[in-house]
Amino acid sequence: MTALPPGSTVGVLGGGQLGRMLCKAAARMGFQSVVLTPEADSPAAQVASRTLVAAYDDLDALAELAAMADVITYEFENLPAAPVREVLERRGAVVRPSTRALEVAQDRAEEKAFLRSAGVPVADYGVVDTAADVEAGLERLGAPALLKTRREGYDGKGQVWVKAPGEGRAALAALSHRPAVLEARVAFVRELSVIAARGVDGATAVFPLGENRHEDGILRRTLAPAEVSPETEAAARAVAVRLLEGLNYVGVLAVELFELADGALIVNEIAPRVHNSGHWTLDACVTDQFQQHLRAICGWPLGSPAAIARAEMINLIGEEVDRWRDFAADPHARLHLYGKREARPGRKMGHVTRVWPL
Ligand code: AMP
Repeated sequence: MTALPPGSTVGVLGGGQLGRMLCKAAARMGFQSVVLTPEADSPAAQVASRTLVAAYDDLDALAELAAMADVITYEFENLPAAPVREVLERRGAVVRPSTRALEVAQDRAEEKAFLRSAGVPVADYGVVDTAADVEAGLERLGAPALLKTRREGYDGKGQVWVKAPGEGRAALAALSHRPAVLEARVAFVRELSVIAARGVDGATAVFPLGENRHEDGILRRTLAPAEVSPETEAAARAVAVRLLEGLNYVGVLAVELFELADGALIVNEIAPRVHNSGHWTLDACVTDQFQQHLRAICGWPLGSPAAIARAEMINLIGEEVDRWRDFAADPHARLHLYGKREARPGRKMGHVTRVWPL
C-alpha cells in the first residue's frame, strides 16, 4: 500500500485516553479521525473530528465507520472480534493491527500458546475449567499459583492467587467460574515493558525499555529508559521483533515483561495497541508511540524511537487528579489530562511526566 496522504481519515474503535491521544497524533499529522465508542462523552470524542456513539457490535455503526475511514485501528483489546472481522475486514476495510492480533491478545490461553509457538519464554501454565483442573495444575506448578480469567482481565482484575491445595474451588468461584489459566508464580525482580512498531513494509522500530511499578494491579509509574544490561535490552528487542513478525503485525505492540534476578526475561502479556507504559515517549522520544502507531498503520515510514531525555511518568488515578495545580506549578512536569468528568477510584484521569537530560 502507498502511504495514506494527509487529509485521510483514521477510524478508532474505543474512546478512552488512548483513543484521545491517537486522535491528537492524527490531527498533528494532518489526518481526520473518527471514533466509535459506546460512551456518550468520551475522552477521545472531545478531540476526534467525528464520533459515532454506538455499541462495538452495532453492525450498522461498524459499516458506517468502514465507509468513513481509510484505515481502522483500535485502542483496547476487549472488542468483540467477530463483528469487527465480519463487518470491517470482510468489506475490505483496512484494519490494523489485524483482528488476528486482537483475537490472540484477548484470550490468555490463545496468547500463551502463541507466545510459546513464537519461541519466547512464558511462565509455566495450564488452561483450567474446573476445580479439579486447578488442583492438578497446582500440583504440577507448585503453590502459590495465579489464576487468571482467560478473557477481560485488565489492571489486575480477574485474577486471584491460589495459595494452597484445596483452594481451587474457592478461587474459581471468586472468578465467577469463568474459563481461566493457572500460572506458575514468577519470582521477578522488576517489571519491564518494551513497545515496538512494525510498518506495512515490515520495518521495525523498538523503543527503549520502560521499568514499571504497579500498585493494586494498576500501573503507578514508568521510569525510562530503564537501566538494564545490554544483554537484557537486546533480549527484549529480540522478543518484540519476533512477536511483531510472528503476527505479521502492523502498528504499535506492547510487551509486558518480568525480569528475573539473572537478567533473563519472561513475557507476561502483550497488548496489540499503544500502552500506558509508553506514555513517556510523548515527552522524551524523537517519535512518540501514538505518532509511531499512525505512521505504521497509514503506511508511512517509521520514525526514530530513540530517547532524547530520561523520563518518569506517573499516572494520576482517581482523586489524585485534583492535585493538578501542584503539577501545573512544577516547571519540569509535563501534565496530560484526559478530560474525564468523574474521578472514580482506580480510574486513570491523567498522567504527569518529568524529564531530565539523558
Ligand atoms: P497481568 O494482568 O497479567 O498484567 O498481571 C497483573 C500483575 O500481577 C502483574 O503486573 C504482576 O505484578 C502480577 N503477576 C502477573 N502474573 C504473575 C506471575 N505469574 N507471577 C507473579 N506475579 C504475577
